[in-house]
Formats: sequence, structure tokens, C-alpha cells
Amino acid sequence: MKCPKCNAENKNDAKICKKCGTQIIVEPLWKPSWKWHVKTLAIIYVFLIILFFLLNWLLKPYMRQLPKDVTPWLNKEVKEGVK
Ligand SMILES: [Zn+2]
Repeated sequence: MKCPKCNAENKNDAKICKKCGTQIIVEPLWKPSWKWHVKTLAIIYVFLIILFFLLNWLLKPYMRQLPKDVTPWLNKEVKEGVK
């Protein structure tokens, strides 16, 4: 790689230019900002939530039904019928 100051050719892993002593800092090609992180996390969360509801809806017919006497608060008729 070349020194940004004097254009001298240096080793690729060199941190300091051998000619002028300038620090060679390799800038990352792309530096995401915190806004990008927030946006990406939001997209991932929304995607997961949608996926959860979609799977819940798709797999509902295949799921084992809980016996009604296990969840009496969901079914008033059964509760009243038992009494
Ligand atoms: Zn240099």
C-alpha cells in the first residue's frame, strides 16, 4: 500500500511509513452509524415478530389442542357445565 503523505510504497501490514514515519491508518470502507444499527435491529425485530405470528397462524391446525379443563378461564361454558 502507498503512504497517503509521500506516496512511498510500504508493506501491506505496515502501520508507519518507512520513509516519512506517517501513520498509515486504513479506513474501513464502510462505517455504519448508530442510526443504521437502530434501523437494522428494528427491521430484524419486525421481521421476527411477523415470522412468529405467521408461523403461529400456519401451524395452528397442527398444534395439539390443550384439554379444556386445563384452561377453564378460556371456556366459561365448560366451567359452568362441570359445576
Ligand atoms: Zn510516507
